[in-house]
This record gives sequence, structure tokens and C-alpha cells, in this order.
Amino acid sequence: MVALLCGSVLFACAAPAQPVALDSHRTPDGSQPGSAATSPPAPPESASTSSPEPSTSANEQPATSEQASTTAASGAVSRSTSVGDRRYPRLGSADLDVDHYKVALRYDADGVAFTGRITVAGQFVNATDQLALDNAGPTVTAVTDGAGELAFQQSDDELLISLGSVAPAGSTFAVTVDFASAVPASGSFLERAGLFRNETGPGVWSVNEPDGTSTWLPVNDHPTDKATWRFAVTVPEGLSAISNGELEGTTRDDATASSTWTWDQNEPMASYLVLLLVGEYETEDGGRSSTGVDIESAAETEDVADLDNYTAIVDRQMEYFTELFGTYPFERYGLALADSASGLAMETQGKPLFSRQDLDGSVGYFQHLLLAHEMAHQWFGDAVSPATWDDIWLNEGWATYAEWMWLEREGLSTLEEQAEQSLAGTAHRGGPVSRPHELFGDVTYDGGAAVLHALRLTIGDEAFFDGARAWVTDHMDSAASTDDFQATMEEASGRDLDTFFETWVHAATRPDMFPATA
Ligand SMILES: [Zn+2]
Repeated sequence: MVALLCGSVLFACAAPAQPVALDSHRTPDGSQPGSAATSPPAPPESASTSSPEPSTSANEQPATSEQASTTAASGAVSRSTSVGDRRYPRLGSADLDVDHYKVALRYDADGVAFTGRITVAGQFVNATDQLALDNAGPTVTAVTDGAGELAFQQSDDELLISLGSVAPAGSTFAVTVDFASAVPASGSFLERAGLFRNETGPGVWSVNEPDGTSTWLPVNDHPTDKATWRFAVTVPEGLSAISNGELEGTTRDDATASSTWTWDQNEPMASYLVLLLVGEYETEDGGRSSTGVDIESAAETEDVADLDNYTAIVDRQMEYFTELFGTYPFERYGLALADSASGLAMETQGKPLFSRQDLDGSVGYFQHLLLAHEMAHQWFGDAVSPATWDDIWLNEGWATYAEWMWLEREGLSTLEEQAEQSLAGTAHRGGPVSRPHELFGDVTYDGGAAVLHALRLTIGDEAFFDGARAWVTDHMDSAASTDDFQATMEEASGRDLDTFFETWVHAATRPDMFPATA
């Protein structure tokens, strides 16, 4: 993601000017029993907690342990409502491995709201009698499986579905949830994630990092659980719907004066990378990149011509980053020029979101920066996602570093200038995992990129880029941690990097000079 508060003072704005307040918009809504609900039995007082251990650092704030297990005659029964991410302890369930989400949405333009049905299919990782989805906004009206209705409860941003009996670890599930979601009338992307109303015309846009998807869909909302997705979005005449993946087709219903746009994302995707746009959009077939990737973009009708101004840059960036980072990780790529707030871009998988106000057809430093940043995220963040939100510096550090490399290549700035300025601005603030409440702060972006520059100087270009490619290859379509990254770079360089990672990544204060070149 890139979030800027100003779009003209470009150099100073290369990192988000203000960190997003974590979870400040989340107000547990208390218990909202559904119509078919009966309360699931509470775990006994003696329940032991067994959340996965979050990583440690000097400033660690312990994750709220929400994973309870109890002992039944058949063995341990887990009721996890967390994967133990210390920055977002409400997110995910350690009991679930979702394979596929099938989503049908109907957009009500008058109410600026959706009614929806989502089928969630996967396997249980642990034996459990409850299926817990993150659900911080939708009002659920019914839950069914193949056998009939299931009892459920909505509580503390969770949808707790009673299975009625214990499902063994390894068994499969497929539940279908009917729900309704409203699009908030106000709110800035600096304050919350999720759905937003279009800036100028009818419709909505989404930015979901890190926890926005579960404000409008019941999902297992953590990047450790990737799945394939299908979105069928029904919109009134005159509007269209854009999502990730391939447009399977559009069907028109004359009786209701509506059309349904169906998108298939058949490559595993983390929930925070979901794209949903409703507006007056058209798709544009951009042909094939020189690296052999299908280019399919989307823009509002009046903006479609602007896409052409970025075709050549996107092609050259794709070639450059493929050379540096390895084969582009997905089947297709494209730009989504959204009717969204200026100053925000998001690496939605395969089709990053940009504001039509920022990619307005002009081509300058700012456009090069945004395009490079979001494309690099396809390798760093999308193909390889953070194992916990502590690891977001591996998304933003790499995307920022790629942005610096691209700007130097275009003669718009030099890597050295960018690196020195970033180090000077962030050194006193510590390593990127030492600040758990600054998910989108400059320690993550410029600080993360400065760490990568220091690593490159320490181990040399060959090991650094070998390591970058190995990182993507080894962790493709999954999530990986800072410790995994250290292991990859140690393997690539043949060196023990404990001291480097302690000094540059974990410590609460950091060197204010780059190391000498290897
Ligand atoms: Zn980013």
C-alpha cells in the first residue's frame, strides 16, 4: 500500500505521512445472536490456551489469547478465534484452512449496501465443534451446510458457527452464510479499512489491508490462510463490478434491470488483497506484456484513455522487476483506476488499485513511484505474504526499495540519495519489527527499505538478488516470516546474519550509517 497525505511534495511524501491507528475503528459490537442461533457451549473454566506463539521483540505487546481448547472424550477440541497475531489478535482462526470462497453479492445503489451469500470451503486443521470466521460488520441471517441450517452467534467481531458435533482434524467443511453489509457513509482510509463510497459517482471501492475484508464479508481474515476466490457481483443497470482474477463473464437480467459480473481468482490470495469496485467501469484488454503476461485493466469510461499513457511504463517495469526478482508470479496484471480517494494505492492481487485522481493520465515522478511500488508488491506481499503483521516491513520495505531502484533507472532520483535520506529519517526510530503499532509508518516503508539497502551492502549484489528470487520461489502462494527471510538470505550469502538482523531489524535503536560495501 502507499498512503500519502499530500501528492505534490513528492520526495517528502514517499512514505505515508501518518501511521494508521491500529484497530481504533473496531468497537466490539457485543453479542448479536442470529435468528437461528443457539449459544454454543462455553469452554470450561479450566480451558487451556494454545495460541501459536507470536514473535518476540523488546516492545512486544502480548496477543490476546482467544484460542481455547478443552478436553472431550474424543481428545482435544479446539475453538480458535485467533491465529495469535500480536498486532491483530482478533484475526483468523487457527482451526481453519480455507481453500475457496464463493461470493455472490447484490449491490443496492439506493441503500449503498450489499446483500450477500458466501460459501467457505476448506479443511479443519484441529478437531473442533465450532467454525469461527472474522465478521466485523456483516449482519448474518442464516448459515447452512449440506445437511441443513446451523446454529450461529455473532459476538466480538466473530461469527461462531456450531457444528453440532466434533469435526476431526483433516475433515473438510463447506458452509454457506447469508448476510447483509452496509457501506459506511464516511471515514478515511487513514482511519479504517474496508468499503468506501465512490468519490464522485455512484458505487463503492475497497481497501482491505489489513483487516478490512471482514468488515463486509465473513472470512478467515489473515494472510496465513490463502484461498482461491470467485466473486459474482450483481449491480443495477449502468454500473459494473471489478474484482481480482479473470472476468468469466457478465450476464444481464432484464427483469430486474441488473447485470452480474463474475470474476475468478484461481490463484491463492490473502483476504486483504481482495479488490471490489462498483461504478461506471470498463475493462480494457491491454494485450500481452513483453514478458508474456496478460494485461487486463479497468477504469471508468471517461478514464479508459488514460490507461494508454501507462502501458509502456508498466511493460518496462515488468521486464525490469522480472529480471531482478524472477518470473512475475501471476497469470495476469492490470491497473484499476478507481473512483477512490487521492493519495492511496493498494497492491490488490494482479490488479492494483490507484486513484483516478493520481493516475490521471499524467506521467511524472509520482506516477512512476506508485506504479513501481504496487507492481513490486506482486512479488513481495502478494505472492509471498506476511506470516504475521509484524512482517509487513518485508512487503513495504521491498516495494519501497523497488521504487527507489526504478526511480534511479528512470533518472528521477538516485538510490543513494533515497537510502541516505531514509536512514537519516528512521535510524533513531529502531528496527521495523520493534514498533508494533506503526503498521503503515515510515519505519515500515523507508525504514524497511533502508534495512534492505544495508543488507545488500553487507552481503553483496549477487547474494542479495539471488536471495530475493529464492524468497519468492520458496514461499510462493504462502506466507513467510522475518525469521524465514533471514534463513533465505543466510542460505544465499553463506553467512550467519544473526548480528545483522538483531542490529538492523529487531533492535529498538538502529545504526545511523550504512555498512561498508561487501
Ligand atoms: Zn506498499
